[in-house]
Amino acid sequence: MQKKSHIVKHIISIIFIIIVLSVFYHFYQKYNYNDFVKAQYTLGLTNFERDSQVKCGEANSYKIENTDYNDAMFYETVQVTPNTAYRVSCKIKTENVQSQHENTDSGAHISISDTLEKSDNVVGTTDWTQVTFYFNSKNRTEVNVGFRLGGYEDSCIGTAWFSDFTIESGIADESNTWNFLCVLFDNVDVTFEEGSTPKNIKLQLTQIHKDDVTNSMRSFASSMQEMSLGKMKVNYDIVETTTPITKMSYDEENGYYVSGYNVKEVIDPYIKQGKYDHIFIAFRSGDINQEKNLAKDWIGLGYMEYRGVGFSNIRLPEDDYDYTYKYDSRINTFPEEVFVHEFLHTLERNAEEYGYERPELHDNEKYGYQNMQLIGLKNWYQDYMNHTIKTQNGTIGLPSEIYTKKPAKTSDFSFSHKLNYFKEPDNIIEELHNMVEKVKILFEQIGQNN
Ligand SMILES: [Zn+2]
Repeated sequence: MQKKSHIVKHIISIIFIIIVLSVFYHFYQKYNYNDFVKAQYTLGLTNFERDSQVKCGEANSYKIENTDYNDAMFYETVQVTPNTAYRVSCKIKTENVQSQHENTDSGAHISISDTLEKSDNVVGTTDWTQVTFYFNSKNRTEVNVGFRLGGYEDSCIGTAWFSDFTIESGIADESNTWNFLCVLFDNVDVTFEEGSTPKNIKLQLTQIHKDDVTNSMRSFASSMQEMSLGKMKVNYDIVETTTPITKMSYDEENGYYVSGYNVKEVIDPYIKQGKYDHIFIAFRSGDINQEKNLAKDWIGLGYMEYRGVGFSNIRLPEDDYDYTYKYDSRINTFPEEVFVHEFLHTLERNAEEYGYERPELHDNEKYGYQNMQLIGLKNWYQDYMNHTIKTQNGTIGLPSEIYTKKPAKTSDFSFSHKLNYFKEPDNIIEELHNMVEKVKILFEQIGQNN
């Protein structure tokens, strides 16, 4: 009798241990994000879970549920080689994903935390969708690659599932040939808030505008090569679209302008071709900014990027006889100036992001360069491009290497190398090992907190 109760006790405690372990394993499987770190902007509005029901491959999917508008992600720190092209991909499925504000670049996507570098978004309710994100490491040695619901610009509500992560390195194209795309937007049809009453502007390009842009692009291509003393070559395509610009962005400094996201329907197919290094869009915006503040009445706007590609606005004048973009030996012999200026903003930005010292493009007066008749600031731009601006401590300007540093694109991945990140454990032993490691870390944290 004594012996029998002993055995029963043993069996009960073994069953008990099995139950505890399986409950623990169940929790572990539900909440284990492997090497990913979870982050959310407002605490308490997001649930992170591994989902065994809604999944794409073998492994449980990674689920982010924003119960209210929030920006949440899980990320892993990836060691990168500077000036290298990277491609990250995953599959995303969404349910009722909505951004808080209209027309914002947010949703379920891939991004690098604390930057504007991101992929396209998946929004609404969708089945599994393949999402790809390209970036150049620039001067970084590590980046936090995040799988995100929300975004830098806006918060989102809803549920997103992520699966099948990959990351590869490619070989950055280091030729000095830049491929430009110039998109002529024939029509603008924007409604914006003017006080409490919405105001609509409708504008069309004239043939004169189109001719001016065509001529300016031709001059831009030859000028960039000449002014850089052969350090850079330009290929370009001009395309015309009748799809109107219907959305504009607004900020305090510049007033209304067009972001890449505002015209994504038109430019996304070109971005996906993976050919272009820089995009100009040319359009009319009338007096939209003039009424508010003359200082915002810009003719070109740069220092922007869209999906890693440099992006500039070229605003065409209201008056067909305006000489901004026209060659005339007595009035303007540098009609491509706005294109040069806006593209140099991209090189200025790249130089900074690659960790080079460079003067600000708008600091011409500080170094004694004035706007001149006929040629505007051509001398300044030329010295800026060739690092020949004289100062007491030697010459300054853009580094000559900057002409070979271009956005990451599909063609950089003809030969790619898979990186060992975002991995699921390969077998039960590895999984148990990871589990024990996690428990160890947990106990260490508990120890530290006491
Ligand atoms: Zn500028």
